[in-house]
Parts: sequence; structure tokens; C-alpha cells
Amino acid sequence: MPRIEISRLRQNKSLKIQAGVTVSTTKDTAALGSDIDWENIGFGIRSTDFMYVMKTDRSGEWRSGELLPFGNLELSPAAGVLNYGQGLFEGMKAYRTQDGSAVLFRPKENALRMISGAKRMCMPAPSVGDFTAAVKSTVKANVRWVPPHGKGSLYIRPLLIGSGAILGLAPAPEYSFIIYVSPVGNYFKSGLAPISLKVETFYHRAAPGGTGGVKTIGNYAPVLKTQLDAKDQGFSDVLYLDAAENKYVEEVSSCNIFTVKGNTISTPETLGTILPGITRKSIIELARDMGYKVKETAVTVEELLDADEVFCTGTAVVVNPVGSITYGDRRVTYSDGGVGKVSRALSTSLTDIQMGRSEDKFGWVEQL
Ligand SMILES: *Cc1c(COP(=O)(O)O)cnc(C)c1O
Repeated sequence: MPRIEISRLRQNKSLKIQAGVTVSTTKDTAALGSDIDWENIGFGIRSTDFMYVMKTDRSGEWRSGELLPFGNLELSPAAGVLNYGQGLFEGMKAYRTQDGSAVLFRPKENALRMISGAKRMCMPAPSVGDFTAAVKSTVKANVRWVPPHGKGSLYIRPLLIGSGAILGLAPAPEYSFIIYVSPVGNYFKSGLAPISLKVETFYHRAAPGGTGGVKTIGNYAPVLKTQLDAKDQGFSDVLYLDAAENKYVEEVSSCNIFTVKGNTISTPETLGTILPGITRKSIIELARDMGYKVKETAVTVEELLDADEVFCTGTAVVVNPVGSITYGDRRVTYSDGGVGKVSRALSTSLTDIQMGRSEDKFGWVEQL
């Protein structure tokens, strides 16, 4: 496989590379990030050096991808994604380990989720191999933006969009797979911070037979209104109920939910209306390994309010304890509004694996 020096990449500005090409980094590129105030990096978008772009031809076959300087895209106003929302995204992170290398967490899971989402949205998806190779190339090209160990992570955002122009409602004639990255700080500066959730009883995030189970872009703008209203009322976010009976807990706007009662941990099943989170899946495996009984089952609001602990999971927050939940005029506080024992133990175990601080016995961590 050809190796490309990052310094050459910088001179050439753009370089066509095959999805499987290895991009080698030099020591001086790692040092370039030293002017960044990693303590105050926050959780926003920052432009980095390179983005990855790969397009299909009109028959839906992927051409080779390129690393381009991070910048704007050119799209037809008639692009399928702009008019009909034909798009999917992924969210993943690269962490700096104690020895200074950068690692990914279960990237194949993101590739597989994009493939299943693409089927639902009538799009061609990159293969697992092309997806992971493209993610690795993009992280390597931007490796100076991976924060030092313990100071945060490089958030990775793969996008799959219908970029071809189409007027009548139909799948777009051309697709683009794009990856951009942004360094982010720890979600909460001072360790785990419990959030307060409001149970939403009028609006729903997803309906049976809809697209709640895939990470399609159209699922997110509709939750903004409820999320903003909840924030105005002093809550951190909204917890959605099932659309059919308004009785079972589903998930938060962008993370999954778990309840703890004694030694049993419960989380709603993924039956098409809940996003199958990779953090969710990892927490289930980890909790079982740690001796908890884990049930993927329907969770009623009553069971939620009666739990000992509640926590949310997602790539951005990893494990997020819930301090209180409000349902109509009932408000329940968990662990005196602090961090529960189980939430803390699971959070520590998972982040230790992700950051290379403990043995990766599940084989979840991947080198670039
Ligand atoms: C992305 C997402 C999650 C979390 O998935 P992870 O793979 O753990 O990041 C949960 N719920 C929704 C709605 C999401 O979009």
C-alpha cells in the first residue's frame, strides 16, 4: 500500500487517494497542535486541516476518495439531501492514549450502522473496509487535533448524502460520503454531571414503521422545538415515549436510556423506533461482564420513576447520569441528584477501555 506523507499532502492541498491508502504522519505534525488551549476547548465545531470526500458515479459505484482541505462543499440546489432529506450521519471519537497514539472505538459498528441506514434511505453505502479506512485516513491527516490524553477527543462525523440533483421525489442520482472532524473537550469539565430530564407526553421522536432506528438527518430538526422548550423550563433534555401507547420509555433526543434497580439494568429494546447506540451495546456487554443482570425490554414510565438510578449513553456523553426526571407534576430525584454507584462504575470502566487505560479484553479499540 502506498504511504503518503502529511507534509506532502499539505503542499499538494488535495491528493487523490484510494480508500485503503495509509497516510503516514510525522512527529512535527503532532507538535503543531501545541498552541491549542486544550483545557477550554468546549464542545463546538472547529475547522481542522482535512476532510474526506468520496463520490459515486451515476451507477452508484464509489469512485476513489480524496482528502481535501477542510472547507465548503459545492452542491446543486436540487441535491436530494437538500430537498428531500436523503442523508445519514454517524458520530464517533478518536482518543489519545497514555502512550500518545490515537485510537478509535469500534469503528466497524459505525460502518455497519451506516450500511443498514443506507438501505432504509435508498442510498449506496461505503463498505465496512472503505468506511474504516476512510475514517482512519481522515484522523491520521488531522492527528494534531486529537487532544492530549484525558483532555477530550477528536469527534468524527461521517456523512452520507444524496448529492445528485433530482426534481421529482426519487432517490438522488449521485451520492457523497464525507468525513469531517472537530476536537472536543470532555463533555462535562468537572467529571460526571447529572442531567434533569422532562418526559414528553405530546410530541414523539419516532413512530413504528418510521425511521427512528436509523441515524437519518431528518430525525433531528423535529426534536429541536421540544428540546428548546424543555431547556427554557430548566431541563437538560427531553425523554420521549412510544408513539403508539405513550406509555413506554424510548430515548432522549440523541442518547439511549438505562434504568438500574438493584442488580438489574434495563434498557428499551431496539425495535425500529430507538437508535441502536454503539455505546448502548457496549454498556450492555460491559455490565453483563461486570455481573449485572441486563434486560432489553419494554420500560414503563412507572418503572423509570421507581428506579434506583437512571443514566443515558451516547458517543458524545459516553455515560451520563440522570439526576431527576419530571413527568407531568411528578418529579423524581435519583441518588439525591448526584452520581449513582452503578452509573459511575460503568462510566469508569468504559472510558478506561476507550482511552487505553485498561485492558481491552473485548477487542473494541482499534489503532489508526
Ligand atoms: C447517535 C444516537 C444515539 C447514540 O448512539 P451511539 O452510537 O452510542 O453514539 C442514541 N440516540 C440517538 C437518537 C442518536 O442519534
